[in-house]
This record gives sequence, structure tokens and C-alpha cells, in this order.
Amino acid sequence: HREPLGAGQLERALCQANDVDAQMEQLVGLLELSEGERRLRHLLVALFQEVFSEFFPGCSVLPFGSSVNGFDAHGCDLDLLLDLEPTKSLQSSARGSPGAEESILSDIDLASASPPELLELVAAVLRRCVPGVRRVHAVPTARRPVVKFSHKQSGLAGDISVDNRLALHNTRFLRLCGEADERVRPLGYAVRLWAKQQGLAGNPAGGGPLLTNYALTLLVLFFLQTRSPPVLPAVAQLRELAGDEDRVVVAGWDCSFPRDAALLEPSANSESPSSLLAEFFRVFGDFDFSGQVLSLREGRALPLPEAGELFKQGSLNLQDPFELSHNVAANVTEKTAARLGHCCRAAAKYCRSLQYRCKSTKGRGWGLARLFQPGAVEPGAGAASFLISIPVPAPWCPEEPGGGFKEICAGIAFVLRDVLRCSCTPGKPPKQLGAPRAGQSLPQDPVGGKEPPGDTAGVEEEPLQPPTASKRPQPDGTDGAATPRAKRPRVNGPEQEEEEDEEEEEVVASWSCTVWHHVWTGRRRLRRQLLHGASPEEPEEGGDSLELEQKVSEAIVQHEGADRPPEPLLRFEASARLAGGGRREPRVLLRLTPSPAPGPLFRDFFHFLQAFLPPALRRRLGWGPGAAP
Ligand code: ATP
Ligand code: MG
Repeated sequence: HREPLGAGQLERALCQANDVDAQMEQLVGLLELSEGERRLRHLLVALFQEVFSEFFPGCSVLPFGSSVNGFDAHGCDLDLLLDLEPTKSLQSSARGSPGAEESILSDIDLASASPPELLELVAAVLRRCVPGVRRVHAVPTARRPVVKFSHKQSGLAGDISVDNRLALHNTRFLRLCGEADERVRPLGYAVRLWAKQQGLAGNPAGGGPLLTNYALTLLVLFFLQTRSPPVLPAVAQLRELAGDEDRVVVAGWDCSFPRDAALLEPSANSESPSSLLAEFFRVFGDFDFSGQVLSLREGRALPLPEAGELFKQGSLNLQDPFELSHNVAANVTEKTAARLGHCCRAAAKYCRSLQYRCKSTKGRGWGLARLFQPGAVEPGAGAASFLISIPVPAPWCPEEPGGGFKEICAGIAFVLRDVLRCSCTPGKPPKQLGAPRAGQSLPQDPVGGKEPPGDTAGVEEEPLQPPTASKRPQPDGTDGAATPRAKRPRVNGPEQEEEEDEEEEEVVASWSCTVWHHVWTGRRRLRRQLLHGASPEEPEEGGDSLELEQKVSEAIVQHEGADRPPEPLLRFEASARLAGGGRREPRVLLRLTPSPAPGPLFRDFFHFLQAFLPPALRRRLGWGPGAAP
């Protein structure tokens, strides 16, 4: 089983290609499953089939989703449908016959069992009878209830659903589209990876505000249907091409379309994959997602009422190609939809620049490599970052760079490391990524000269990775790499928590941080338990004795298993600087820049830290509650 490619590996490989079209083709090759990985999945399906057949005679185990839809990637999950319809028929005809009570069939009547009962049964079979299967649990509340599992030897995670025949057909539809035109898969892979890096798509179990990969792929297919001339036909046209053997209705929805892509007319569209990608961003960067319905059935956007009364309207209205009453993006929040538009606009702008179109002669990221770096294509901006503002009592503000600030930095590091049990190593100060202000020149590139001048569309020349850690010990024994007069990256996008106005910053210290345990969850309860009800007052987050807070973290670490998990939960760069002064209240701004792009887990951690850190720091530095608001 191959691990997903590291970002660096992928980037290096892409940079070798000669143009963006070649990068797109290469991307598919780099990400798609190898023959060996496919065989392994096949074997696993056969294993499940064998075991489930023992319990549910006649059943079939059928893969769907990314393992078989043509948009597979190393390590993608294994979606399985356990089709129990044949077993139900067998059961009803065998009822009363001798021997039936010997089997599990007599324990539960499949036809009348409730979905949660059925799921529990499937979970029990998985747990007890399939070798190597771990972490089995039923998720009965999802729109399509599933049993989740992972498989130890292969490292694969998967879902089994028992009632989702539509998934087989929409999977086949995606596959057909991928086979119909050779530009479809490269575009699908590029958009999927881009959206993942931007934190726009993921697979939220049982909801979440992000697009699922399925929804994202439909967005790509819709785009290709709406080119002029179209790259892909509308689903209604495909239906016309379906032969008798292709006619099928599932749960009342017509899922008829040809199985064989060879039956489709080649597209008259001659756009290159790289220009289609740029156009994808341009089109959706300026799209009214909430005021119309994207219909793959019709291959065009429809007025909202045409989707019907049952269609759940939302911030993004994307109609399932078969289950027409279903909005596949119903879970997408207004914020995510707005961010999708924003990220598309930034990407479209990047696609107009030389850095997209021309291979770098200086060994820098270009084309797709740069597009996939989180936050990199935002003109004049660094990666998405989050700010925590900590008011500082005036006497603590250093006249000289590094004065009381060093102690504040040591305090921040203490809270992160010793109180919250994060790893935290001093790092280099962040480079300036912001566009130069009037009268300023671009910062000198320490490595080499600049790319040839041209239409750079405002994209900066700086290295785009967030600053990496250097484990440089500090000669003065302070806890951060405090450096006078370093510049900060700008905050980008609407996601950010606080947009600071332009200010001269005094000092910057930075750390590379890694979070290994969910130290932000359940603290209140643990705190109460540790206090044994000694304090009737609700202790303030982080404001109680730091010793107690340390114990709370320790309890969480112990509870999760004292050993570090193989992979950390979160990684981020943190940088601190002093702001304010003059008329403005002095404060330390702590900027967290997560990598990869922030997901829900990071946001939870951030919101916790935002409340926890200021009072904890007050306590550590002895400012007292009155010292700062
Ligand atoms: P991944 O690599 O994320 O697993 P995938 O190609 O398997 O990608 P998923 O989003 O997991 O894509 O979708 C798998 C299947 O689940 C789809 O074929 C579809 O049947 C179903 N599905 C996923 N998201 C939705 C949705 N929003 N609405 C309806 N069905 C969905
Ligand atoms: Mg999947």
C-alpha cells in the first residue's frame, strides 16, 4: 500500500514537466492507484464478499466511489455497498423451511429490520469475522448510513453502506465521463487537489460545511458540459443514447445512460486541459451559486424553482444528475460557498500570470506546483493565517526591541509546550510575502534572480512555503527566535479571524508547532474532576492555576494513550509580534499559519487557544487579571 505522496515530492515531480498540460497529465499518473493497489482493493472486496456471503447468502459486495470512478488517488477510501436485496428474497422464500434457524438469517428479519439494526449487524460481522478489520463503527445518522472500518494490513479506511444503489450508478456516470474525453480526468484531479489544499473539499463524515469530492467532481463535469462547444454531453442527452440493456430506474430516478464511452461522439471542443483549468476558475470565480441550480441533467444552470419543491436550496445549488431532488452541496455553508468563489478568483488571476504558464528557469514552483500550495496563489499574501490578539499592560512594552517581549514570547512557548503539551521549536522569522508598499522595493531574493518580467498579475516572487522550522537554539536562552524588524505575511481571504491594518511591527519571534492530542476537548469536565468540586466557581479557561491546566492536559494525553500517535493532529507555524503603541492599545499578535490548509480540527483548536492563551499568559507573567482587559 502506498502512502499519499508528500507535497514536496509531488511539487518536485510537477516542476520537471515542460508545460502545464504535461503537468496535468503527470498529476494523474502521480496520484492514481497503481496496478498493485488496485489488486489489493480487489482482494479486499473478495474477502468481504466471502465473509458476508456466509451470513447473508446471495448478497453482493460492490465497490463504488473513488476506488472505481476513475478519480482514484493513493490511499483514497474504499466505499462499498452491501447489497442485501437477494438475501431478503431468499429469506422470505426460505422462511419456515427446516435448517433456516441454524443461520443468522433467522435472528433478524432483513426485510423488517430498521436501518440501525441492520448496520449494527453488519458492524458485528465485520468486527468478529473479517480478519485485519479494525475501528468498526456504525454511523446511522448520516444521510446515507454507513459502517466505517479500517483495514490494518492495507492501511485502508472504508465505508460499507447497505442502502445506496444510486451510488453505483453515479459512480458509473463519473467513470463514463472520465473515459469520454481525455481532458476530464486531468481536470478532475487538478481541481480536487486544489480544493483539498484550499480547505474547500473533504469528506466530512455525517456532514460538515465542505464540498464532498463527489460534489466537486460534479462541478467539474457541469463546467465541461457548459463549454461552447461542450466537452461532455448533458445527462439528458446521454439518456437518449442508452440502449435497452442500459435502461435502469433506481428509487424512482432514471439512471439510464450508455455503459460504453465508445458510443459517444467525440467532442468538437479543442481547448487544452490547462486553459480549461484556468477557465474553470474564471467561470466559478464569478458565479451566482445561490441564485440558480447547476443541472447536470440539462447541462445548464436553471432558475431555482425548476429544481422542484423538494430540492433543498442552499448557498450552492448543485443538482444530483440522477436523484433530481437532491442538492449534493446542501451541506455547504454560505461561508464555504463564498470562499469557493474567492479562491477561484485568486486561482483565475494566478492562471493569467507567467508563473502559471511558463516553466521556471530558477527551479521555483510554477504552473500546477504553485497552484497547489495552500494560499500561494493569493496575490500578495502568505498562507491562510489566524490571529490571536493579546493585550499587554503598558509597562511591558519594550522601548528596545526584545525587552519585555522576550519574556512574553517565553510565556507563549511555555503555555503551548508545557501547559498544552504541543511540540514547539523556535523557527525562522517569517519572510515578507506582502506586496511592497509604494516606494518600497521587492525584498532581495536570497537564492537567485527574478523570473523574467511580464504579466505576473501581482503574484509575488517569494518562496511560497510557510517558513520552516530551524531548530536553532537561542543564545540568549529565550524561547523563540526573536528578530527585530522582521515583516509579517499579510492575512488573506475572508476566512481569517482578524484583518490587521498596516502597522509597523516591532519584533517577531516564531515557532514551528505540532499538536499531538485533543488537548482542547473536555477540559472543563476534567478540571472539575481534578478539583473534586473544591471550587464552586466555574474556572475561567486558562485563567485557573497553570498547574491545574497542566494536569488537565496530562489527563487528556493519558486518556488518548500516552504514546504519540504516528501522525500529529495539527501542524502550524506561530509568529508573535508587538503591535499598537501610540494611540492604540499595545498588544501581542500571535499569528498561526496551519499547514496544510486549515480544516475543522484546526479551527476548533484555534478558537480554544484564542480563549485560553491570554489569561494563561497573564497568569504566567504575573500580570494579574487587572493588568489587561
Ligand atoms: P474520496 O476520495 O473523497 O473518497 P470519492 O470519489 O469516493 O472521493 P465521495 O465524495 O467519497 O467521492 O463520494 C463517494 C460516493 O458517495 C459518490 O459516488 C456518491 O454516491 C456518494 N456521495 C458523496 N457525496 C455525496 C453528496 N454530497 N450527495 C450525494 N451522494 C454523495
Ligand atoms: Mg470515497
